[in-house]
Amino acid sequence: MPTGTGKTITLLSLITSYQLARPDVGKLIYCTRTVPEMEKVLVELQELIDYRKKYFPGGKEPQILALGLSSRKNLCVHPVVSAEGSRESTDARCMKITAPWVRERAMQGNDDVEICEWYDGLDKDGPSARLEPGVYTLKDMKNIGREKKWCPYFLARHMIAFANVVVFNYQYMIDPKVSTMVSREMEKECIVVFDEAHNIDNVCIEALSVNLRQQTLDNAGRNLATLRRKIEKMKETDAERLRDEYRKLVNGLMSQVALPADGAEATQWLANPVLPQDILQEAVPGNIRRAEHYVAFMQRFLSFLKRKMDIQTVTIEDPATFLKAVEQEVAIDSKTMRFCYDRLVSLMRTLEISSTDEYTPIHLVADFGTLVSTYSRGFAIISEPYDDRMPAVPDPIIQLSCLDASLAMKPVFTKFHSVVITSGTLSPIDLYPKILNFHPVALASLNMTLTRQCLCPVVLTRGADQLPVSTKFDMRHDPGVIRNYGRMLVELAATVPDGIICFFVSYTYMDSIVSAWQGMGILSELMEHKLVFIETQDVVETTLALDNYRRACDCGRGAIFLSVARGKVAEGIDFDRHYGRCVVMFGIPYQYTLSRILRARLEYLKNTFQVKESDYLAFDAIRQAAQCVGRVIRSKADYGLMVFADKRYQRGDKRDKLPRWITTNLKDSNLNMSTDMLVAIAREFMREMAQPIETDDVGKSLLSLDSLNALEESRMQSSNAEMLD
Ligand code: SF4
Repeated sequence: MPTGTGKTITLLSLITSYQLARPDVGKLIYCTRTVPEMEKVLVELQELIDYRKKYFPGGKEPQILALGLSSRKNLCVHPVVSAEGSRESTDARCMKITAPWVRERAMQGNDDVEICEWYDGLDKDGPSARLEPGVYTLKDMKNIGREKKWCPYFLARHMIAFANVVVFNYQYMIDPKVSTMVSREMEKECIVVFDEAHNIDNVCIEALSVNLRQQTLDNAGRNLATLRRKIEKMKETDAERLRDEYRKLVNGLMSQVALPADGAEATQWLANPVLPQDILQEAVPGNIRRAEHYVAFMQRFLSFLKRKMDIQTVTIEDPATFLKAVEQEVAIDSKTMRFCYDRLVSLMRTLEISSTDEYTPIHLVADFGTLVSTYSRGFAIISEPYDDRMPAVPDPIIQLSCLDASLAMKPVFTKFHSVVITSGTLSPIDLYPKILNFHPVALASLNMTLTRQCLCPVVLTRGADQLPVSTKFDMRHDPGVIRNYGRMLVELAATVPDGIICFFVSYTYMDSIVSAWQGMGILSELMEHKLVFIETQDVVETTLALDNYRRACDCGRGAIFLSVARGKVAEGIDFDRHYGRCVVMFGIPYQYTLSRILRARLEYLKNTFQVKESDYLAFDAIRQAAQCVGRVIRSKADYGLMVFADKRYQRGDKRDKLPRWITTNLKDSNLNMSTDMLVAIAREFMREMAQPIETDDVGKSLLSLDSLNALEESRMQSSNAEMLD
């Protein structure tokens, strides 16, 4: 079911009630993809708690503490730090004024050292800094932070241990570099929910993949030179610190990195938890214990990567082959390489480096080294001298590409007893256990209850001239197809009121079709009915276009927004009510199938999980299409026409992969349509939906307490009858 139809409130109500009935159940950890989604979950939880109060008169309702945790960028209240442009620069700026060595210097009476008064305030109140039971959105946290002079970011992290419900981004659970920060507070009885998880496999893969470009390697070289200078300086001024670090490393990383002190330091330099516990307890290999030896070691690894980048042909290797080459050429063994990320973290701390953002390149290289030497399978190292689509422009890249999404999910499934994966477009649902490699306890696709037939999916296979339409490779540039697509949009623009959203399979295809429409005069015809706006790869431009699109819909002029599947708009922007009365999906948004990463992943899926190439590609394309068309339905009172404009949607193997809320509403009479038939359906649907809603009908799908009891009773009776049989 699409967003706005009750998934979140159902889950919240079920799980928090279960928590209340079974106090041994741990926290509810609710993972969302974006900050607005996080805020929405917290608002819905507040509504639920208010509703529950009715059944516990006299203030006897159960106490729940729920809060959202996000990055410093979203929670910082320091006037200067919070004005930083990016997440990385906010983190680095915060680190500069909260690092333990900075605070130490300030405490010694050094007035020139700047510290954060909000961090200081929280630190002074220490364990007594607590939040009362309630629901705290990010905004609430900031307000409390300003009022009490507590840093909201560190307050949220401190309160995780006491909260019943914690809402945060997927990354806090999946990305190994961030997950240790919060996972220490989470017991295995916690219930983890991944909401809007239709793309969870891609999030997992991104979290474990690293790309290195020429510029990254050059900057990493500069980072190493700076580190070398700092080590020399420290040798002259404070050699004992380096010796102390050496002693700790002899005892293993656990004593040096993985168990850092609480506070700002712990949040910046995080241990790499891809390393198993037993390795963390081992002594760090002798050849990288000394700071200057470690820098020389990284220099050798960097020179290997630079040589590897200097190639003319594409190479694809598995980790074992890559590691063998590293050993032969620069004499680095894989065991030592596993430690390179954590050793770097330790060194940065010893050198008291707080400008974290400047050292991102060397971190990437170290991350690359640790990942490639930790996993023997599920990864590919792809070195390309240029992008296939622009072979004349040299643009070398080395990609450590994770091919197995289950690697990032495995720690979650191992650690927590209950994990819920949910979305409106998890379809076909049985593919997810395969690609994430888990055994589901329950697998259910639920029907959506509607008070009226507000969804109208249609499959358009032909233009008005009866010629088939499709974005298949051999047809997509056919002028007949382009004209038919254009004419269909003109007809819809004349029929459908307010906003229409169109999704294309790629930016390139959208650009070519729009310029062809311009030549055919179709664009000017469209403009007679509605204004036309286009998504570009520039975020600022797109935001402006969206803003103007909304204004055109608000003032009644009506507008068309041309967008791209898999783009920012397709994943994150809602077109509710009059902002989206119709959505057209031009073609099936397959991935770029010649991409080497995709080819390597398909091969891996076939060999490891027996998922056929064509099945995965169709599944991935159809989930994107479903995601796009779902943009127009954001609540049960909303309505929208959904046009699947490609003859391939007529085929059962494609249609079967659409989520149930679309297939159950897709009538046989709406299949295999031509443009004129589509327009007739659109006209009738819009007329019907424009009628006032019978208010008595609203709530038809809601169950009262009596009807719920009756339902439960009939279920009991039928199960008793079954047992007697
Ligand atoms: S400690 Fe908190 S308030 Fe201070 S700079 Fe860092 S994030 Fe901002």
